[in-house]
Amino acid sequence: MDVHDKKTRSYNMSMIKGKNTKPEELVRKYLFSQGFRYRKNVRTLPGSPDIVLPKYKTVIFVNGCFWHGHKGCRYFVWPENNADFWREKITTNIQRDARKIALLEQAGWRVLVIWECELKKGKAETVLANLAIQIISNYHY
Ligand SMILES: [Zn+2]
Repeated sequence: MDVHDKKTRSYNMSMIKGKNTKPEELVRKYLFSQGFRYRKNVRTLPGSPDIVLPKYKTVIFVNGCFWHGHKGCRYFVWPENNADFWREKITTNIQRDARKIALLEQAGWRVLVIWECELKKGKAETVLANLAIQIISNYHY
């Protein structure tokens, strides 16, 4: 019996199909509009962070709730089809995320993670405003 509502499941399916890279763009556009300048997908850093703000020694990952296994998130459910495959894949992603964050922090970067579910309509404005505050607070004169 499927305990998850249809909406969540179809959201999961759209993630599996690899659509929807919009959240990352939303964050970048917002930061740019606020005057922040950043680099994208910096491959020389662990996990090639989505957004790198050298001036603030801060990196940002924008995580899809499905791929990164957002714990306790209403938009993440373990798929029932090919359960073993997905459990392995998503667990690996979670472990990789933890490792890359540790490496970045060791290298002196501050790591901020924004989850896709935080960028839903009605939430995004507050979350992005807080993000900007967090970034600025890491500026050292
Ligand atoms: Zn989430």
